[in-house]
Amino acid sequence: MTVLGLETSCDETSAAVVRDGMVLSSLVASQADLHARWGGVVPEVASRRHLERVLPVIDEALEAAGLRLGDLSGIAVTNRPGLAGALVVGVAAAKALAAAMDVALIGVNHLHGHLSAGAHAGGDLRPPYAALLVSGGHTELIYVTANTEYLCMGRTRDDAAGECLDKCARVMGLPYPGGPHVERLARAGRQGERPLPRAWLGDSLDFSFSGLKTAVLRRVEAGLEPARVPGLCAALQESVVDVLVRKSVRAATRAGVSHLVLGGGVTANRALVDAATQAGARAGVTVVAPPLDLCTDNAAMIALHGLKLLRAGLRDGLGLDVLASDPIPRMAHDWKPPSSASV
Ligand code: AMP
Ligand code: MG
Repeated sequence: MTVLGLETSCDETSAAVVRDGMVLSSLVASQADLHARWGGVVPEVASRRHLERVLPVIDEALEAAGLRLGDLSGIAVTNRPGLAGALVVGVAAAKALAAAMDVALIGVNHLHGHLSAGAHAGGDLRPPYAALLVSGGHTELIYVTANTEYLCMGRTRDDAAGECLDKCARVMGLPYPGGPHVERLARAGRQGERPLPRAWLGDSLDFSFSGLKTAVLRRVEAGLEPARVPGLCAALQESVVDVLVRKSVRAATRAGVSHLVLGGGVTANRALVDAATQAGARAGVTVVAPPLDLCTDNAAMIALHGLKLLRAGLRDGLGLDVLASDPIPRMAHDWKPPSSASV
């Protein structure tokens, strides 16, 4: 089966072709430069750019795969969650192509796509497993059950981790998106800079990054000489990574699973992946971190997930709608891992 994936949920216009679980092509037209001057994604601007880019990117993805529209078995498209105006562009394109070519249309949840990218990178890892999705818009711990049900074990109560890094970088005068700059500068070490706070929230698997953001702002307001910026970046990264890693490994242990999948743009951070891998190894949990191009927003993950749905006989009609929000349901408070699992 050959599936074309489309992803336009935020600021990347992406198309990819997947055949029988192999990624044949994956194209991403990033809008990061377009939004940099505003210090964040401007929804209306994003939609307009998606409109300009979506058809050329589809053509390029098909050409790179050496295929034509007639070779497709289905078209998978992100229809939730995301910026509604941006999602509509991808969904409208997918519907038009699916109708014209008389092939299956499959709506995909963007978060499920990230998890499928992780499972693919883990050598077709089968559930159950735990996952940390950490990006500019999400920070969630998800348990994928043996029946591929998605349960939220914890999520941020305020800012996403990437959003926190970007906002802190901004007050330190670094360009948008700030995450990669924070990582680059943090390599010089904390250099005597005091540690920044971590919000543990008791034994909850929820996150909170707004206090950390305020702490960085306070230090900047108190007077931050340029020479101290790398040290503050290191302290910031240390706090974010520490909380993400400890809670993720705790989630995997609580769920009684052997694998933790990482996904989302912040997974580009080497310090996070290394710390998670080491902490996981100490707890008997194998950490799967997809290659960078599968971590950030991309259509290959949407095609990979769409292929799974198609194989399971699922597909959507042309009435497929977009949803700006579609939260993964919370795991029940009294949830216990299946008895066969080792806790
Ligand atoms: P996404 O929302 O999945 O598109 O990912 C974008 C987010 O990932 C932004 O908040 C970036 O600042 C963040 N990000 C990208 N690369 C890195 C990195 N190397 N370290 C930390 N954060 C990063
Ligand atoms: Mg994403």
